Amino acid sequence: MTTTQVAPGSATHTEVIPFRAGDGMALNLHHVTSSHPVTRGPVLLVHGAGVRADIFRTAGQPTIVDALLAEGWDVWLENWRASIDLPPNRWNLDQAAVHDHPAAVATVLEHTGADTLRALIHCQGSSSFALSAVAGLLPQVDTIVSNAMSLHPVVPRLSAFKLSRVVPLVALAMDYVDPHWGKTAPTGFLQRRMVDAVRLTHRECGSGACRMVSFVYGAGHPALWSHENLSSGSHTWLADEFGPVPLTFFAQMARSVRAGRIVPTGSVPGLPDDPVAGPPRTDARFALVAGRDNLCFLPESQERTYDHLERHAPGRHSVHVVEGYGHLDVFMGRYAPRDTFPLILQELAR
Ligand SMILES: [Zn+2]
Repeated sequence: MTTTQVAPGSATHTEVIPFRAGDGMALNLHHVTSSHPVTRGPVLLVHGAGVRADIFRTAGQPTIVDALLAEGWDVWLENWRASIDLPPNRWNLDQAAVHDHPAAVATVLEHTGADTLRALIHCQGSSSFALSAVAGLLPQVDTIVSNAMSLHPVVPRLSAFKLSRVVPLVALAMDYVDPHWGKTAPTGFLQRRMVDAVRLTHRECGSGACRMVSFVYGAGHPALWSHENLSSGSHTWLADEFGPVPLTFFAQMARSVRAGRIVPTGSVPGLPDDPVAGPPRTDARFALVAGRDNLCFLPESQERTYDHLERHAPGRHSVHVVEGYGHLDVFMGRYAPRDTFPLILQELAR
């Protein structure tokens, strides 16, 4: 079953196409079209943790989706199990790598009749998608443009401390943390105390949700963008774009940061114990992008993955550290159409 929506104030149409993950979980794809003729193949956009497909479509400004449509791409956005558009669930990267992304790719290829597709992937959408690719589960994906982190998470020292010391304690008391608590006060006692602590320690702006995002996802003030890079409209918009993230994910990321590479939980068959122990089981070309000022995952994350990939296929891949940008302002920055989109478009088209 499909539905069609017309985005207010924009000439794009979004068709929501449900599909089933490998374990039966109900997920969906947003197929975005516009008046621009489709002259290129399908491109799949994969969001990060605790957001949704629309994180790539900042309200009130030209987005990477608009830029892709203008270049003739057939644009598909995946709502995988970490999406806040889906019922909260205690997901991990293994489930996404084995169950979600291969099914999403198969669905896009089935609908388009294409043999291959290209992917633009961000943060935990990137780590799980890259994990899937190097495990040999995405043979139809020939080009992967990744932002922020893929196989080697390197985080600021404060984040490493929070992951190793604070997450285990929080996990004793709650199953999820939710940046949206910064906007709509939570009812639980511990949740309220967490919001109070963030209010005291994060004074960088007046948005409770923006400050909670920084507490949950990194070590900066703010962590995922610089305020100078955002319009006031997108700063307001993002407050409703973040939702619950399960502690199961943070526990896996804590182990991965300690190991210096993504560590599968072992809960889902089909993944190697160490995804960077041998050559990647994919022919995809990777273009790895990192904002120089990223305070969620340091740029060294992408540089390490580049070194790994390059060892097995010298000269095939690329890495780009973008000055003046952080984590998500690569997509939602007010000047991103000028500063970062050309690089993304160029790497997808290469
Ligand atoms: Zn803010």
